[in-house]
Amino acid sequence: MLNDKVKDVLEGAKGALEKVTEKALLAAVPSGLYIGGEWVAGEQGGDLKVYNPANGEVLKSIADASPADGIRALDAAVAAADSWAATAPRVRAEILRKAFDLMQERKEEFALLMTLEMGKPLAEARGEVAYGGEFLRWFSEEAVRISGRYGTNPEGTGRMIVSQHPVGPCFLITPWNFPLAMATRKIGPALAAGCTVVVKPAALTPLTTLYFAKLLEDAGLPAGVVNVVTTSTSGAVSDPIIADPRLRKISFTGSTPVGVSLMKKAADNVLRTSMELGGNAPFVVFEDADLDKAVEGALLAKFRNIGEACTAANRFIVHESVAEEFAAKVTEKVKAFKVGPGVEDGVTIGALIDDRAVAKANSLVQDAVSRGATVRTGGNAIEGEGTFYEPTVVSDVRPGSDILREEIFGPVLAIVTFKDEDDAVRIANDTEYGLMSYVFTQDLARGQRMIERLETGMMGLNVGVVSNAAAPFGGIKQSGLGREGGFEGIHEYLSTKYTMTPNPFA
Ligand code: NAD
Repeated sequence: MLNDKVKDVLEGAKGALEKVTEKALLAAVPSGLYIGGEWVAGEQGGDLKVYNPANGEVLKSIADASPADGIRALDAAVAAADSWAATAPRVRAEILRKAFDLMQERKEEFALLMTLEMGKPLAEARGEVAYGGEFLRWFSEEAVRISGRYGTNPEGTGRMIVSQHPVGPCFLITPWNFPLAMATRKIGPALAAGCTVVVKPAALTPLTTLYFAKLLEDAGLPAGVVNVVTTSTSGAVSDPIIADPRLRKISFTGSTPVGVSLMKKAADNVLRTSMELGGNAPFVVFEDADLDKAVEGALLAKFRNIGEACTAANRFIVHESVAEEFAAKVTEKVKAFKVGPGVEDGVTIGALIDDRAVAKANSLVQDAVSRGATVRTGGNAIEGEGTFYEPTVVSDVRPGSDILREEIFGPVLAIVTFKDEDDAVRIANDTEYGLMSYVFTQDLARGQRMIERLETGMMGLNVGVVSNAAAPFGGIKQSGLGREGGFEGIHEYLSTKYTMTPNPFA
């Protein structure tokens, strides 16, 4: 006889096999703003249109929030703040855990929704559901481990108590490239810490966040704890929220220029800020690397998410003695990629998010070529329906090329060469960004030297993907402030209080 657990697993597996139809899924996504536990139209009604980048068709029209709607969402977060902060950590944890379980049940739905609105291949969207869901599980476990300390002062005259408290209402702004994971990576720790939130997803991919808010509602989250405003006018809606003295924190993931402007605005109210900003990751291949493993890592670090990742390898810095072999091997693999709508079987490179992304990838390639780079494969926008760019490899990229300075955010792999370790370090650190780096070497001491010498918040040493809910994700230099995930993640949403008390024996 099957025990209940096995039965659940089998029934779960059956559910996952049922085909999710696009039409039914889009109909199930709420089209309103989520404020105070209600789905509301917003004072100016529709009409924010969400497009499928693979064919340019409108997927759904949803509410387009006004600044007054944004303040209403903050009102709701403020109203719910005290009771959520006072909710037992175990209860907060159970709601997050329930949300994780529901995410497993609905994984195919979330994957399809992300592929439709963002363009990534379905297999990668499934990977994002797995990764994004883990933040719910991880922070459900962290919610019950918020600790403090109690000790005697060095003079022996008193007792010192250090305790942790939720920072209060938070404003969370997320980008379009990982519509689910960037939301769960912020909402998970905020809720675990006892904070209420207003979430503003990117206008290009808001459907996943709306569907996630519905999941949280189904998981039993009380009204007002999470509020979602979707809008085509990000600045106009965000500015009054940030200027409101009731707000305590802003957490932003997106480009560095927008992050800088938000930090300036946050300064007026001395808000806590977490900033996950842009990157320009070096991928260093030493002459002693296992080249096949380096090629495998390069394909993941570069082409995952169509290259539209802040952690994407932007500059391949390869020792001159192995550069030709590396370029040849990587080019052979890239030529075998299948480009097309993310919903089609076997597609490895989906549509870029919009025309501007295609134009940017193209102009960076053209600039590199005009300065002497060689196109090994690709190098062109693809004509016709949707916003596609050929997966591209360019080698012999010359110093001073724009592609070495700017985030490519597309499927273009650019190779430069170096002569020795100091040269590699100098090139790798020659950027204002400091998010991610990759190093391939079989020399342990050299690998350790790179950990200490490369100026980035994260490193993949002989691996092409590092993201994990249990790890502190974040950058240094102009890539940001603070960490998401790991033991560190919840502290972004907690403030420390120190209390002095007398020596009770005196
Ligand atoms: P973006 O900065 O254009 O937008 C990010 C978010 O900010 C969106 O929700 C957008 O609507 C909002 N926004 C834009 N202007 C605003 C304003 N004036 N006030 C308030 N909100 C505003 O970035 P994007 O194009 O959506 O995302 C790509 C960028 O995000 C890349 O630079 C990438 O490196 C970065 N990113 C960083 C991380 C990380 O963890 N470090 C992760 C993913 C993406």
